[in-house]
Amino acid sequence: MRRLSRNKDFILKIEEISHQSIADCYQCGRCTAGCPFAEFMDEPPNRIIRYIQLGLRDDVLKAQSPWFCAACLVCETRCPRGVDIPRIMEAVRTVHLRAKEQIIDIDMIDKELLMDTHPLLLMSALYKYSY
Ligand code: SF4
Ligand code: SF4
Repeated sequence: MRRLSRNKDFILKIEEISHQSIADCYQCGRCTAGCPFAEFMDEPPNRIIRYIQLGLRDDVLKAQSPWFCAACLVCETRCPRGVDIPRIMEAVRTVHLRAKEQIIDIDMIDKELLMDTHPLLLMSALYKYSY
């Protein structure tokens, strides 16, 4: 059986950055049911919240889901507990960025692709995916 090691500092860090109370989530799953990007995520939004509740820092940080979150706010409007999940996803990305983990290296992107990419899309991606 897997042994859980609860990282309370991680829970507090996510709460501090997101201004959300992680314990408010009671795992109803309504956020995931309405998320238009859930099918592309490796972990559904409610499971990301659950991992945070359990202080499973490594599981949260290895998930790609926060990078797929488009901050569309559908989940927040569906949540009966008023949990602002996009803020929590942003907090997870912020933890990555503060650790200076580079997700995209602009030098590795094909130059022709760069020329064809809309500048706003590029700026948005680089904001989310790089430090
Ligand atoms: S909708 Fe809200 S309460 Fe339900 S699982 Fe998602 S975050 Fe938790
Ligand atoms: S804000 Fe993110 S997690 Fe919430 S529904 Fe939109 S894409 Fe999904």
